[in-house]
Amino acid sequence: MHTIFHLDLDAFFVSVERVLDPSLEGKPVIVGGDPEGRGVVSTCSYEARKFGLHSAMPIRQAYKLCPQGIYLRGHFSEYIHYSKAVKKILEEYAPLIEQSSIDEYYIDFTGCEKIYGDFPKFALFLQNEIKEKLSLPCSIGIGSNKTIAKIGSDFKKPMGVTYVAPGDEKKFLSPLPVEKMPGVGKVTLKELQSRGIYTVGDIAKLPQDYFATDFGKSGLDLWRKANGEGTEFLTIKREQKSISKETTYSEDVVDKKLLEDTLFNLTSKVAQTLRDNNFMASTIGIKLRYSDFQTIERAKTIRPTDDDKVIYETVVDLFRKAFTRRVAVRLIGVHLTKFANFAEQGYLFESEDEKRKKLLKAVNIVRSKYGFGSVQLGSLKEAD
Ligand SMILES: [Mg+2]
Repeated sequence: MHTIFHLDLDAFFVSVERVLDPSLEGKPVIVGGDPEGRGVVSTCSYEARKFGLHSAMPIRQAYKLCPQGIYLRGHFSEYIHYSKAVKKILEEYAPLIEQSSIDEYYIDFTGCEKIYGDFPKFALFLQNEIKEKLSLPCSIGIGSNKTIAKIGSDFKKPMGVTYVAPGDEKKFLSPLPVEKMPGVGKVTLKELQSRGIYTVGDIAKLPQDYFATDFGKSGLDLWRKANGEGTEFLTIKREQKSISKETTYSEDVVDKKLLEDTLFNLTSKVAQTLRDNNFMASTIGIKLRYSDFQTIERAKTIRPTDDDKVIYETVVDLFRKAFTRRVAVRLIGVHLTKFANFAEQGYLFESEDEKRKKLLKAVNIVRSKYGFGSVQLGSLKEAD
């Protein structure tokens, strides 16, 4: 029997904002941008939820419901910092951790009962550790697989601990509304309700074939999960350490303009790889090898980004400071490191306008369809 914990930080972005500014405690706080803007609520405090606010609600609508709320753009690099700090605490106790988003962690404690004793008590201990060391509240679900653990962490929030004993999976799931099942979105929910299926128990009672035929593979998956099954193993991704791209010239180059053009192309390539992987980089570096083989590397750490323009400006700045000899260059390269794998959430906190974000997305689509050369940074510059 496996024992999986799912730890979910409660209203994470708001909780971090409260660490940074304790005067926000007890107030309706909304993270996700300017109330006049077009953004959506990223996270809101439990006080704000009393006004009917929830994640993904358009900010303007939220503002109508709760004009007295405190609306913040958010501090994305702080969220990454705290997200890592939580993982560090967990690593002191856990043999295996899968971080599934910026504020969610699966932890495999299978076979650890001899070390940690009673699991619910141990969950309270972990919760307390994180609260004491980082002032962040979290909820924990414990179950025999990932699905049960995840539904469990959402069952009592904030600061909840939910333990589903082995064998009790179906009993626990049965009364829950179907939308509590991971993977049941608006469309599936409507479809299920139109068939008179409202609770997870309703799904479990029906024959397996009913779902397999009408909903395909995902239906079968849903039926299995409703019956208490789920994945028992964590997915541990190997961290990619860096993205880099280099060019060796067939003839050594001394022309600064040509070197900068090359850097420009290399930047576009590494930035595209970065976005393809949903990463953000915070350390930008260059490499120069002169014709006499002297090699220079320079790097700079900036706010996490996946934006060509920001990366290129940093690259050129590094290059101009490093390229001091009037000697021809043989090789030139760009590298990015220190990734945050939460680029999507990060977009919400970039201060530049919507247009630019959409453009970047469009550039990626065009590039992947027609090849990298079809859209260059020049078009991005014009957009500013
Ligand atoms: Mg959370």
